[in-house]
Amino acid sequence: MYVKSINLYHMRKIIVLLLFFAIATVANATNRDGHFWLQLRDRNIPIDDAVRYFGQWLSLPADATFALLKDETDELGIRHLRYRQYVAGVEVQASMIIVHGRDGLVTSANGVVMEQKEQPRQMRRAQNVDNGQQKMYLVKGADGYRYARLQYDFMNNADVYVDIETGETVKLLPRRHSLEETMQGRSVYSGTVPLTVNTMADGMHWLTDSTRHIYTLNAIHAKENQTYSTGKSEGGTTIYDRIGYLNEECKPFHTADDFWMMRQVTRVTLDNVEKQSDPFAEVYMVIRNRQGDMLGQSPTVYCSSLPATIPLNTKGGMSAFCNVDSFYIETYLYQYTGDDALLESVGIAPLAEGQHTWTGDHTSGRIDVELVGNPVVDIHWGMAQTYDWYKSTFGRDSYDGKGSPIYNIFFVPVQNSFISMIDGNNALAEHDKKFNCYVMLYGYGDGVTMRPVVALDVMAHEYTHLVTASTARLENRAESGALNESFSDIMGICVKHAVKGSKVAGNWMIGDEVTLQKSCIRDMSHRQSDLPKVPIIYKGDDWLDDADEHVNCAVQNYWFYLLCNGGIFPEAINSWGSTGISISAIGMKKAVQIAYRNLTQYLTETSQYPDAWRGSLQAVADLYGEGSPEYDAVYDAWSICGMTDNLPDTAIHPVLRTSDADSRQWYNLQGQRIDAPNRPGIYIRNGKKIVIKK
Ligand SMILES: [Zn+2]
Repeated sequence: MYVKSINLYHMRKIIVLLLFFAIATVANATNRDGHFWLQLRDRNIPIDDAVRYFGQWLSLPADATFALLKDETDELGIRHLRYRQYVAGVEVQASMIIVHGRDGLVTSANGVVMEQKEQPRQMRRAQNVDNGQQKMYLVKGADGYRYARLQYDFMNNADVYVDIETGETVKLLPRRHSLEETMQGRSVYSGTVPLTVNTMADGMHWLTDSTRHIYTLNAIHAKENQTYSTGKSEGGTTIYDRIGYLNEECKPFHTADDFWMMRQVTRVTLDNVEKQSDPFAEVYMVIRNRQGDMLGQSPTVYCSSLPATIPLNTKGGMSAFCNVDSFYIETYLYQYTGDDALLESVGIAPLAEGQHTWTGDHTSGRIDVELVGNPVVDIHWGMAQTYDWYKSTFGRDSYDGKGSPIYNIFFVPVQNSFISMIDGNNALAEHDKKFNCYVMLYGYGDGVTMRPVVALDVMAHEYTHLVTASTARLENRAESGALNESFSDIMGICVKHAVKGSKVAGNWMIGDEVTLQKSCIRDMSHRQSDLPKVPIIYKGDDWLDDADEHVNCAVQNYWFYLLCNGGIFPEAINSWGSTGISISAIGMKKAVQIAYRNLTQYLTETSQYPDAWRGSLQAVADLYGEGSPEYDAVYDAWSICGMTDNLPDTAIHPVLRTSDADSRQWYNLQGQRIDAPNRPGIYIRNGKKIVIKK
């Protein structure tokens, strides 16, 4: 130990000597990458002449010149002159020499310059390219200085210096403050998840992932029927200027520890109200933010039953989710005769986790605030997962394959006329070509039938609607609409399995995390018994010609389930007339490639089930060949769903379908006409035996 200390002492001495030497002989040296610090005391250089010494101090290009930008004297009497460097008349972007002095003499200088050795070689050519149309700069990028022009990059909201010859980005300067980091967020359904958030545009309401071009708007404090201009426009069209405007003082995102969580008022306990003479007097409570917007309302309780704990988590989609700094709790008296009367309004602040008590003139009580997962985290994270899955699985960059921005909006005001979200119990994708509006919307859920509608499978489902809108463009009606929904379910379940892995093994449910009273929204495997009946067989039992698209989509959903998992159907008659159909499982990875290829390469706006059948066979033939086990699996899975060669094919034989109505008629084995098979068995249709198996 002793020896070591001696060595360190000597080393320090050597370092000090070296530094002194460097400073004493610095005249022509810059520090690193053109950055320099010079001590110039006792040189007796008049500060107004300093510019003449720059060449002597620094190793500059021969034709370097300088322009004085600023001359100021600070409160200590020290004068600071700032100069910008030019080389052959071209401004060196971000260059600066600051000369400091006292009593008219230079004391020091520092700054950053382009040195002679850094001068780009293509200067002569660069000057030829420059026709004096737009100002040119010398800009330092990753690989040194280049001649560049300044442009505005809308997508990144950044100033970009672009190489005048190659068009490459030399330097990108975001206009907004950029956080440039991956952070953690607490989601509702997926625990704590990493979030890519490059900027929080306009300070708080938009989350921006500028790598994937995903934008998520938290509109939870948007007002109904009012406009909020987001400034987000694409191709000159303002996209969301009718969605609702955000309450300025609400802060959905915080910068403190609870950054990515929501604070929720979960219940109110009213301990006491002023004694009421009316024995049937009731009270209810309303929570408002400082601006007077209602955040939640309680049911009514009899005054005589107090103290009482009152739930406060639902009100027609409005909620007591309130990341606001302070709020008011209002107690209303409701009497048999007369109108509701505001008994008292008590301000509570700050709104932190835990229990808060209040004692007013007329009321007293407690309010419980919990930190809960933030649905906006689910959305922003889930969309990144969906984007990445599409990119790695199909090489698809964004829904349109062109890297277009992906917009998500959480909690659209209920009564907004632009968006057709009836209540908070829904998620939807809107695409409007006229307004170039492609957006996904997610509801908060009413807390009774639905939780926030932001589960991963739901998000991938909605995203796929936009994929479909830019590929097959299946019309959102009748059979083409059913197929549209089915492709969304297929991709939704695949993203869920790809991201959540073994946690969701065997789970074929869509929206199971979201529903509160049912097992899920749809079950592709047809195993959940608590859901409304949906068809397995094309135009078979439970098929409804005029049904919502979310009913008949079940047929292709079941096909996909069978294709992935396989199945043995001993009673089924195959198309060669022999008994028993056995489907070999080909797994989700192959199955989804077939479905995607069908959607993007073969189907059209008005495609029907027979087209989907044919297209999927074409797709599997493309990928694996007509004689492949995969081809057989596709074929066999479809035949269990009632799709075989014998079906009238609307795409190929439209006349047959319309003129030969009997070809769609079902018969039992005794040859009697029946409406439609309503239980498993063997039936005859279009001259062929068809097995119905559930
Ligand atoms: Zn849908």
